Amino acid sequence: MSDSTIMPWVVGNWKMNPMQANAKQLINEFKELLNKNEISPAQCHLAVAPISIALSWVQDEFKQASRPVHVVAQDVSRMSGTGAYTGEVSASLLKDSAIEHVLIGHSERREFFGDNPQVIIEKVEHALAAGLTVIYCVGESLQQRESGQAEQVVLQQICDIARSVSTEQWQQIVIAYEPIWAIGTGKTASPEDAQTMHAKIREGLKQLTAFGASMPILYGGSVKPENAVELAACPDINGALVGGASLNAASFYQIAQAFALKK
Ligand code: PEP
Repeated sequence: MSDSTIMPWVVGNWKMNPMQANAKQLINEFKELLNKNEISPAQCHLAVAPISIALSWVQDEFKQASRPVHVVAQDVSRMSGTGAYTGEVSASLLKDSAIEHVLIGHSERREFFGDNPQVIIEKVEHALAAGLTVIYCVGESLQQRESGQAEQVVLQQICDIARSVSTEQWQQIVIAYEPIWAIGTGKTASPEDAQTMHAKIREGLKQLTAFGASMPILYGGSVKPENAVELAACPDINGALVGGASLNAASFYQIAQAFALKK
């Protein structure tokens, strides 16, 4: 069971979206909704993950919001520091631009960009060493679920990085469980199935680290206003990583409200 003091996170993953004018409109609409002051910073962390060239200006836009909204990088280089690595952005360069959070291991990076366990370990090591908070994504494919391997796959993905995380660094990690078959498909894991996996992840984390009971475990995969309340009610679901629905200010806001009211 989760530590009841875990503050939920609601993180919008904008992926390779939207065009700049639409992003500005989205931010303005979301800031308008935040002006209602219904989601206090004590109830819920809020964050968005824009494309890398937008990180700084999106962060500037949110400086005028009525409450903090963190800005998260969608990825980070496997190389550290600075150097001759064309096209790459290292963890220390993110930190240098005041970006404090990064997604690592998203299934789209694993599938399309060669992020295998070794690459992911390197990214996690550099991100933690630079002092970033890592939102580490794990999840099984449909075939793995149907053949009864879901739990083993997900726990293995967590074990993949465990050797690279020092005792204290576990506090810099947020887990995002995202069943691949539920991402962008409109199919959500049922709250019962999601809670079952989150409870297994919680048990696994408790065995790996003394911080296991207090680490946030987010659910991702077609989260929308229609299913957010039920997901938020699950004891081991400590927030959401939201793709498609985060591109609509009203939908993202309603999801955030659902988690902010989580008991
Ligand atoms: C995601 O990409 O992390 C995600 C969960 O996407 P969606 O909400 O669109 O399924």
